[in-house]
Amino acid sequence: MSAPAAPVAIVGGGLAGIAAALALGEAGCPVTVYEARPRLGGAAHSFRRDGLAVDNGQHVFLRCCTAYRGLLDRLDGSRRVRLQDRFDVPVLTPDGRTGRLRRAALPGPLHLLPALATYSLLRPADRARAVRGSLALRRLDPADPALDQIDLGSWLAAHGQRAAARQALWELFAVAALNVGADEAALGPAAMVFQTALLGRADAADIGVPFVPLGELHSTAAEAAIVKSGGRVRLSARVEAVEPGPAIVVKGTRIEASAVIMATPHEQAAKLVPEQAAPDRARWSGLDASPIVNVHVVYDRPVTRLPFAAVVGSPVQWVFDKTAAGGLDEGQYLTVSVSAAHQWIDTSVSRVRAEFVPALERLFPEASRARVTDFFVTRERRATFRQAPGSGALRPAAATRWPGLCLAGAWTDTGWPDTMEGAVRSGLHAARLVRRHLGLGHVNGSPS
Ligand SMILES: Cc1cc2nc3c(=O)[nH]c(=O)nc-3n(C[C@H](O)[C@H](O)[C@H](O)COP(=O)(O)OP(=O)(O)OC[C@H]3O[C@@H](n4cnc5c(N)ncnc54)[C@H](O)[C@@H]3O)c2cc1C
Repeated sequence: MSAPAAPVAIVGGGLAGIAAALALGEAGCPVTVYEARPRLGGAAHSFRRDGLAVDNGQHVFLRCCTAYRGLLDRLDGSRRVRLQDRFDVPVLTPDGRTGRLRRAALPGPLHLLPALATYSLLRPADRARAVRGSLALRRLDPADPALDQIDLGSWLAAHGQRAAARQALWELFAVAALNVGADEAALGPAAMVFQTALLGRADAADIGVPFVPLGELHSTAAEAAIVKSGGRVRLSARVEAVEPGPAIVVKGTRIEASAVIMATPHEQAAKLVPEQAAPDRARWSGLDASPIVNVHVVYDRPVTRLPFAAVVGSPVQWVFDKTAAGGLDEGQYLTVSVSAAHQWIDTSVSRVRAEFVPALERLFPEASRARVTDFFVTRERRATFRQAPGSGALRPAAATRWPGLCLAGAWTDTGWPDTMEGAVRSGLHAARLVRRHLGLGHVNGSPS
């Protein structure tokens, strides 16, 4: 098959757009990525602050994120991340009690039973209830539309999970994965996360953390890879309209495309995608948004040897050692990741500092002897869509009524929550649709 005359226009250079561009480029299809901002990477990016490399927010992935890991391979990023060889999460509390959730060398789903059976932050009765709750959760069908109408909190309560178990177990993972509290989280995606990550293959939940800034891992590497595969990247190029043809309009100029992939967040897609192509576009705004706040603290000396930890009973939800990724030579750089951060999104830096610095001292006693040499907050008001009951029904499929116009993005109907994995899957799927539309051959990198 010969390549189409005009390049495919990919609107949005986040992970969805990057994945689509590389998949099409590798299939011999010319693409141009139009990105409104001066860099690729979208919601997962980094910047410099007084010599420190800062991620806009800590990003982690799991071994089961096969599409994202495939993208990392393409970007030569797999050697820039540390993927646990065994799921292992230290869990801290402000009163000094600690727990540990570590998988055993057993096949899934038995691999977490020993950890649950000995999890010191839960009473034995709650541990037994947690096992029963896990078995009940395992039987759910995440794709069942009825689960999209129920919240996780109610389901946990109905299945005997008391407040202590919610806090010290279920919410540790649900809030981080879905970016909403359990009472606000739709049961469908919650069941999907627990089934895929924790109740399925034994190695699925092994945690991956980058040890370079996200800009290095994604943005610059992606730009180079897209160009290498024959594509073009236009940064600071905001697409103003999508027109029949299909064509896009950038800075007032109409540009013909052989196909268009809209890989922007849902708010922009709802404005740009013509109503004739997606009559339901007005509903996309119902996906709304949920914030993530990251609290960054630099100490003059090391205060913990843990690479990361989950925390119960504290405003600190998860804390990560970013010293290496930040490029810090002396002292220690910690980032606290706070999901569903409505409480903090508009709070002044001084008030955030007054809460989080003492909270970290309660977790890491050495921190009370250390000097804080820098403190700042990054806020992502629209970090993900709000994965609340009813949101599943609002997520559109990739195909639109215009055969040459597809949707991509972590907010589309990927079967995954709003994550890097969902974003990459959506990009690969859109690339497959475009390939089919253009009559081109196989697209590499498709997840199974
Ligand atoms: C602080 C934070 C922490 C997170 N933590 C995790 C995590 O630990 N693990 C995880 O898996 N996921 C995490 N996520 C979610 C993850 O980052 C997103 O799901 C994923 O990056 C979304 O990718 P995307 O390509 O779908 O969209 P985006 O990254 O939003 O990309 C869309 C792009 O479109 C561009 N754009 C918009 N309008 C236009 C236009 N008119 N013309 C051209 N370009 C346009 C935007 O500038 C943007 O670059 C986190 C998100 C945040 C914000």
